[in-house]
Amino acid sequence: MFQKILIANRGEIALRVLRACKELGIQTVVVHSTADADAMHVRLADESVCIGPPPSRDSYLNIHQIVAACEITGADAVHPGYGFLSENAKFADILAAHNITFIGPSGDHIRIMGDKIEAKRTAKRLGIPVVPGSDGAVTDEKEAKRIAGEIGYPVIIKASAGGGGRGMKVALTEEDLEIALQTARSEAGAAFGDDAVYIEKYLQKPRHIEVQVFGDGFGRGVHFGERDCSLQRRHQKVWEEANSPALNAEERSRIGGICARAIADLGYSGAGTIEFLYENGEFYFIEMNTRLQVEHPVTEAITGIDLVHEQIRVASGGGLSVKQEDIKFNGHAIECRINAEDPRTFTPSPGTITHFHTPGGLGIRVDSGVYSGYKIPPYYDSLIGKLIVHGRNRVECMMRLRRALDEFVVDGIKTTLPLFRDLVGNADIANGDYDIHWLEKYLAKEE
Ligand code: ADP
Repeated sequence: MFQKILIANRGEIALRVLRACKELGIQTVVVHSTADADAMHVRLADESVCIGPPPSRDSYLNIHQIVAACEITGADAVHPGYGFLSENAKFADILAAHNITFIGPSGDHIRIMGDKIEAKRTAKRLGIPVVPGSDGAVTDEKEAKRIAGEIGYPVIIKASAGGGGRGMKVALTEEDLEIALQTARSEAGAAFGDDAVYIEKYLQKPRHIEVQVFGDGFGRGVHFGERDCSLQRRHQKVWEEANSPALNAEERSRIGGICARAIADLGYSGAGTIEFLYENGEFYFIEMNTRLQVEHPVTEAITGIDLVHEQIRVASGGGLSVKQEDIKFNGHAIECRINAEDPRTFTPSPGTITHFHTPGGLGIRVDSGVYSGYKIPPYYDSLIGKLIVHGRNRVECMMRLRRALDEFVVDGIKTTLPLFRDLVGNADIANGDYDIHWLEKYLAKEE
C-alpha cells in the first residue's frame, strides 16, 4: 500500500479523496494555488504545497510543479480527481518515469479513449454497441453525404478531440451538411488544435446512461451498474441517479456484462465510465471516461462500496475488494450538483458564502469543500457541492430529497438549489420520464 498520496485537485473532490486516504491510513499531501490557501482540503491535509498563481494552467495543470511537489514531500502516488490532469496521458507517463504511481489507468489507455474516433473503433472491436456512423474521420463533403445518406438524417458531426460538449453540429437534412461539416471542423481546430471530425446518427430522444466499470489490474473486469445522467444543460450534467428509472434488471446485467468483459479484454486498470445514449431499448456507445466521475457517489450509495478506496487498492496492486457477485444494488440514489450560479441564467456567482448549513439525517450525504465565510474564487468550476440522497426505492429517495433541499441553506451567493426545488416537484421527474433534451425544454418554457 502507498505511504503518501498527493492529491492533484481542489474543491469537493480533493476532500473526497483525502477522506478515503485518511480511512486507509495513508498520509496526504495537497497542492493548491494561491487562491486556494484557505480551502478546506488544505486545512485538513497532512501537508500542503503551494504550486502557483490562480490560473489553472499555472497551478493545477502545471505538471512540473506537481512532480516537484511529489519529490519534495516524498509522495509515492498521485490521485488526479476529475478534470484538470485526470485524463492527461502525458502526465501519467511522466509520473511513471519518476516512479510515482498515477492512480488511474495506463497512459496508453487514456490516449485511446481521449481520441473519440479511436475510442469508438476500440469499443466496437470489444463488442460494445456503438452509434451507427462513419468508420473514422470524414474530410470531404462527398463522402460525408454518402455516409449520411446511408445512416439517414438527422446526423451529428463530432470532433474526435472533443470534450465538454464542444465541436458538435447537427445536420437535419442534406442541405445542412456542408455548413455543419465546415463549422464543426473549424470549431474543433480552434478549440482542440485537431480538426478531425466524424459523423454519427443523431438520436432524437435518447437518455444518457453510463456504466461504472473497474479493471482490477490482473486482467479482470467488473461493473457497478449504471447511472442515468439525462438531465443536462448544454451537455453538462445537472442531476444524476442510480439506478436508471428506464432500465430493468435484465437490461442492467446485460449491458453491465458487456462492459465488464470489454474492460477485461482491454486489460484496463482502475475506474472507468462507459457512456451510452439509450433509445428504444438499444444502447449506443458515445465515449469512455478514464477517471472517477463527479456523479460516482450515487453508485456508492446503492452498492455501499467506496470507489476511491477501490481505485487506491487497484493502483497499489492489491486488486478489488469485491467480485462481481458481491456487487448488489440496494434502493435508489439521486445527486444534485450545487453550483454557484444563477438558477435561471446559469451565470457564475462567485463571492463570499455568509452562511452555509447542510441537511442531515438518514440517507443524506453532502460532499462539499465550502463553509460559512468561505470566499469562492472566480477562477475555477462553479461546483460548490453535491447533495446525494439515498432511499429504499425512488419514491422514498424523492421524498427525502425534497426535505433535504428545504433544509439546505447557502447565503451570500446565488446557487442552483432553487432549480432542484422546482424539479423535485415536477410530474415528469417524479415519473422518471425524461430524455437528454427535457431540461433545456423545461428551462425555455420557464423563461
Ligand atoms: P463530450 O465529450 O463533448 O461531452 P459526448 O460524445 O459525451 O461529448 O456527447 C455529449 C452529449 O452530446 C451527450 O450526452 C448527448 O447529449 C449529445 N450527443 C452526443 N452524440 C449524440 C448523438 N449521436 N445523438 C444525439 N445526441 C448526441
